[in-house]
Amino acid sequence: MTATRVAGQRRVCDVPVCDVGELDAGPGREAACGARMTAKVLVVDDVHVIRKVLEAKLLAEFFEVVLAGSGQEALEKAHSENPDIILLDVMMPDIDGFEVCRRLKADPLTSHIPVVMITGLDQPSDRIAGLEAGADDFLTKPTNDVALFARVRNLVRLKTMFDELRLREVAGHSFGLASLPDPVQEVNPVANAAILVVEDDPASVEAIRPILSRCAGLRVVSDEAEARRSITDGEWDLVVISLTLPGQHGLRLCAFLRASERLRQVPVLVLSKAGDDRSLLRALDLGVNDYVTKPADRAELQARVNTQLRRKMFQDRLRETMQMLVELAVVDPLTGLYNRRSLENNLSTRLAGEGSASGTVAMLLDLDHFKSINDTYGHPAGDAVLRQFAHRLRMNTRGVDMVARFGGEEFVIIMPETSCEEARMIAERLVRVTAQEPFRIADGREIGVTVSIGVTDAKPGEAQGDVIARADAALYRSKADGRNRVSMAC
Ligand code: GH3
Ligand code: MG
Ligand code: MG
Repeated sequence: MTATRVAGQRRVCDVPVCDVGELDAGPGREAACGARMTAKVLVVDDVHVIRKVLEAKLLAEFFEVVLAGSGQEALEKAHSENPDIILLDVMMPDIDGFEVCRRLKADPLTSHIPVVMITGLDQPSDRIAGLEAGADDFLTKPTNDVALFARVRNLVRLKTMFDELRLREVAGHSFGLASLPDPVQEVNPVANAAILVVEDDPASVEAIRPILSRCAGLRVVSDEAEARRSITDGEWDLVVISLTLPGQHGLRLCAFLRASERLRQVPVLVLSKAGDDRSLLRALDLGVNDYVTKPADRAELQARVNTQLRRKMFQDRLRETMQMLVELAVVDPLTGLYNRRSLENNLSTRLAGEGSASGTVAMLLDLDHFKSINDTYGHPAGDAVLRQFAHRLRMNTRGVDMVARFGGEEFVIIMPETSCEEARMIAERLVRVTAQEPFRIADGREIGVTVSIGVTDAKPGEAQGDVIARADAALYRSKADGRNRVSMAC
């Protein structure tokens, strides 16, 4: 994955991500995100009337629509229009839908765009061919609205997450983060998944089992109580719930999952009975992610399971990369202390606040003759000393004190609500705990280390540079007077 390709990708939602917790929002949750989902849909069909019908339906739901009347035009517009999803007819006179799909998926510039193949109802073999060509999902002609919007919303959301993940990874890259494997290349998301199926209809279970049997953990349960226990106790990547369980237990389980803080993000796919739109619409209202009509068509079920598992994978990774980026932005990787940037933010906020700087003390610490530690024992040993020193600082300061690595072997501690006298005592303790016990390096050798400290108090409204400069002048005196000591500038 190159940055160029990412740069070419448009953000999909008006407000694409409000919070990772909302990423996997079910239907109706766009409202919680503060924006309606908008996306550009490329509709490909050689029949003018079909194009127009789909366009009208999509426009009514505020999607942006681009039309193509042939396979060739579809390939061109996939490049020039950068759509978020492509609805692709199978039967076209020039290049058929399968071939268009294959070419889109083989081209790195378009391979990330989800493709929904529109097949005839009486052509189940087309779906298998579609899957093999790389299609992400299917719709049958004539298209039913519930199915159309379920397909489009699911795949657009998935693409939004993918784009966001890519952007974050590029950001992570510039911070020197190792890049994660490309999730699109992971063709079989089922292999590592844990899937729970709640279904009491033996024929349906028989149909599902071969498709899901390749997953790492498949569990099939048939009654509601057992399902609740499994849902609560397990770590599931996907829960499949039948809506034909007796007594509307399927819907109750959907509600149970969506009401739980911990389980809300687990993708839910329901199996609905053909014609029972009432239960299906209620399930979609409850926030289930997608559905398959029984008897489950193999290709459809596989496509939808894959989409939901990919979504879960993206979501987990987004959360991880988000956490890493947040940490990278504020934490020094060697010592785990705050970095210079967070220190400066904290100090300037403190100094700018009306009167809040009063009683704030800043301490600048610099290890003595550190260069000779590196020279004598090697750079890795120097790093180990820095880490242990950071640990001693943390152990000997309060939770409200901000301990930061200022750079190299220099550290800063900001202490709120502290008098100069108290600060002197703390600084002297830090000098003591550094010198009194040697630092141990990997090969077991011990190194004696000392530190010099300069302490000053911050005046409300003064520039942070002035505070640090005063602490630095005091530190310089400690160095000049023989090191391993504290000097005050209060
Ligand atoms: P003084 O007592 O006057 O402070 O002497 P010093 O040797 O500690 O100071 P000087 O500024 O001459 O050297 C600091 C050394 O710290 C030089 C640099 O190579 C080393 N250093 C800076 N950052 C790191 C780091 O991340 N890891 C290691 N191992 N060494 C570092
Ligand atoms: Mg030094
Ligand atoms: Mg130094």
